[in-house]
Amino acid sequence: MPEPGGDMSNASISLSTDNTFIPRHIGPRESDIKAMLALTGHDSLDALIDSVIPSSIKGSSVMELSKGQSESEALAAIKAIAANNQLFRNHIGQGYYPCHTPAPILRNLLENPAWYTAYTPYQPEISQGRLEALLNFQTLVIDLTGMEIANASLLDEATAAAEAMTFCKRLAKNKAAAFFVSAACHPQTLDVIRTRAEPLGIEVVVGDDAQLANDSLEGYFGLLLQYPASNGDIADHRELVQRAHTAGALVAVAADLLALTLLMPPGEFGADVVLGSAQRFGVPLGFGGPHAAYFATRDSFKRDMPGRLVGVSIDRFGKPALRLAMQTREQHIRREKATSNICTAQVLLANIASMYAVYHGPEGLRQIARRVHRLTTILVQGLQQLGHRIEQASFFDTVSVVTARPAADILAAASNSRINLRPLDEARVGLSLDETCEQQSVETLWQIFAGAGQPLPDFAALAAGSGDCLPAALLRQTAFLQHEVFNRYHCETELMRYLRRLADKDLALDRSMIALGSCTMKLNAASEMIPITWPEFGAVHPFAPAEQSQGYQQLTDELEAMLCAATGYDAMSLQPNAGSQGEYAGLLAIRAYHVSRGEAGRDVCLIPSSAHGTNPATAQMAGMRVVVVNCDVRGNVDVADLQSKAEQHKDHLAALMITYPSTHGVFEDGITRICDIIHARGGQVYLDGANMNAMVGLCAPGKFGGDVSHLNLHKTFCIPHGGGGPGVGPIGVKAHLAPFLPGHGHMARKQGAVSAAPYGSASILPITWMYIRMMGGEGLKRASQVAILSANYIARRLEEHYPVLYTGENGLVAHECILDLRPLKDSSGISVEDVAKRLIDFGFHAPTMSFPVAGTLMVEPTESESKEELDRFCEAMICIRDEIRAVENGSLDKDDNPLKNAPHCASELVGEWNHRYSRELAVYPQDTLRESKYWPPVGRVDNVYGDRNLACACPPLSTYQDA
Ligand SMILES: *Cc1c(COP(=O)(O)O)cnc(C)c1O
Repeated sequence: MPEPGGDMSNASISLSTDNTFIPRHIGPRESDIKAMLALTGHDSLDALIDSVIPSSIKGSSVMELSKGQSESEALAAIKAIAANNQLFRNHIGQGYYPCHTPAPILRNLLENPAWYTAYTPYQPEISQGRLEALLNFQTLVIDLTGMEIANASLLDEATAAAEAMTFCKRLAKNKAAAFFVSAACHPQTLDVIRTRAEPLGIEVVVGDDAQLANDSLEGYFGLLLQYPASNGDIADHRELVQRAHTAGALVAVAADLLALTLLMPPGEFGADVVLGSAQRFGVPLGFGGPHAAYFATRDSFKRDMPGRLVGVSIDRFGKPALRLAMQTREQHIRREKATSNICTAQVLLANIASMYAVYHGPEGLRQIARRVHRLTTILVQGLQQLGHRIEQASFFDTVSVVTARPAADILAAASNSRINLRPLDEARVGLSLDETCEQQSVETLWQIFAGAGQPLPDFAALAAGSGDCLPAALLRQTAFLQHEVFNRYHCETELMRYLRRLADKDLALDRSMIALGSCTMKLNAASEMIPITWPEFGAVHPFAPAEQSQGYQQLTDELEAMLCAATGYDAMSLQPNAGSQGEYAGLLAIRAYHVSRGEAGRDVCLIPSSAHGTNPATAQMAGMRVVVVNCDVRGNVDVADLQSKAEQHKDHLAALMITYPSTHGVFEDGITRICDIIHARGGQVYLDGANMNAMVGLCAPGKFGGDVSHLNLHKTFCIPHGGGGPGVGPIGVKAHLAPFLPGHGHMARKQGAVSAAPYGSASILPITWMYIRMMGGEGLKRASQVAILSANYIARRLEEHYPVLYTGENGLVAHECILDLRPLKDSSGISVEDVAKRLIDFGFHAPTMSFPVAGTLMVEPTESESKEELDRFCEAMICIRDEIRAVENGSLDKDDNPLKNAPHCASELVGEWNHRYSRELAVYPQDTLRESKYWPPVGRVDNVYGDRNLACACPPLSTYQDA
């Protein structure tokens, strides 16, 4: 028997619940950190950070260095918060409907890291699975709306409507100044449209669309209608649309996808844009988000469509392959002339909605819609028996009830039964049914509406009656979703395998590191993800009475305080649902601040040439004039140029938008001076916080010169990328800007909504709350330190193979580094794209390609990657450099080499092999790959072919059979 002694003695076992999460989140172990520091030539993390961060901003962090909580403690704490949300049955409607997330989609997609940890599919060869799911989404939208083309999601219905407004403005034949918005649109849509119209000088006219039948349409460049309307009306818009077209105006229709399974699609009555929310296709209410909005239009308008579009192309073998089409990077190309600033969208949610349609199929969807409508019809008849009047002659699932008793009494009775109706006015309430309703729900509603002693209607008797209440002239006549994919996966086994098959085609964080500069792909810990699918967070309606969402109130209050501490700002708004939207909200706050001081003429926004494309695109949306500031040879802002432009525009200077640490991956020394130059001339500093992962706990933008910043919670703060969304882009502001943060009809401050829901993508906020709670100030600081260490470690290991383009004064980088591959192009003909594709053969997703400098790779390893993984990446890069050397010296052919032909598919190996290098070199360039290998499903994708032959929907089935 071995002696139980030495370091196994009981006394050495800690009984405290010390934080165990920090070393789970941070990849490198203590000994690894020592070894990494040795390579950078520092003897401690503090010493390294001291030489990276300029002394002018060092120590500006106000983060308390608290200890974090363990995973189980934090989960218990957030469970207690969740319990403060009350779960009422919701009949509020207004764009948000309870629904069932099919369990196999919940488990195999929403809760599956293979789906939620994926990045935006810019590298199509490793993204065929999620691209296919998005193509299904586009097809679903095209078919249900009756339009020719649809994008792969927008942020929410209200912002999609605002995009439709500017879209109509660009494309309308007439050059009129006003946009007509039907008063029957959802109120939150109206609010966001008002916010968006104001800085652009667009006049918004809100009115009754029935009235428009008699009015002249001259003066409108576009109309926005809702179908069915927010109150439940289903108007026949055919004539109005025709008259609008005669007047040279365009028509956008906000439509409900479930209703469109039964109603004539807007495309068939002439709509130019159809938009809306796909929430009720399987996505929980989540207190307002995240949900996928959709946007569909005519083929001839495709080049102006906001958001991303998945298209069919071919790979180098001529085999069909998917990729993002045309305007993929349009902000980076068109800058302030971009059609929209949308970058991160709602891919994960769009994929849930698309799989909901795949699982149910056309007949299943129609059944769901029919059931909802039937129940609504029965409900309405019963309400009429009880003496209430229904305002709609025809409806789908929503009606306005003129109540026989004061509406307040009905609402109180509903509340007693834990039911939410939609309050309209003293005499009316609104209500909506949905797929989760049953006979019992209808009977409960009758009880609520019944007066004392009134007998309840007989459900069975009413159900036996025939007939529906859809408008006969507007019934859907056309089939939809006749494609194989929507007719094959209706049993769970098949769906499970389809989801698995698609996930297997993709590279996400569950397979290997994704070293994306500027996009911070770090661990999305399971403990952080667990709360988001709890019903206490998922089943809350965004417009439920405030006392029901006390848990959310606590969560958002605490999170705002945490983020203020992390950034040094005084106030925070969680409403923007992506970084781009945060930028927009931030610039609006700056604009409103200037106006409040009688300086409305301040409209110039200085933006360095290296800025992320969303910056100039956003400035334009905020009604500002963009003036570009040069960068110097070291990649820093050219301070002399900045000073001269700030001086030249000093009477009109509104803001500087600057990213820090810079998009070049460097802590610029001049930052405080730059901020001073702007402030001295009356401007405000918008500090783009996408690179906050280098700063949390080390220095605070709110303390060294920023007036406002957005954070990307889906970068720095652990919300997963979801394959291109969801995101959260909160903004922090100094106190003087706090009065100008976004408001909402359901918040204390009513004006200035930038999202449909008061807290944007509320249901994913628990992820960030958990992360901060578990890391504590101490862990967060250490995360930033290790992120910086890892980037410097990679820079050191790779610099003799690929020059590091920019470093700070001391030869160090921040949390990312740019590898310069441009010289290799001259010496070998090998391009940055060849290297990116060759990395796939090694099982890696390429780093950020050609941003912010063409011909380079920007590598951001993050603190979550272990030293083993960093080394594996470096070794792949070095191996690739050796291959390039072989091309340079002629031992590999300059055209037929493994780089030019990358990535290599399994299918290539079985045919005849007539390359001038071996099969082994093609697919097993490193021996370790024999044990674990990612096989790309397609060869290199031809982008040009896809744009010339644009196809954005699933191939139709010519011989259609369904069991
Ligand atoms: C990612 C990013 C943005 C945009 O954020 P989204 O959430 O994608 O809209 C803006 N600026 C920088 C520097 C970024 O890296």
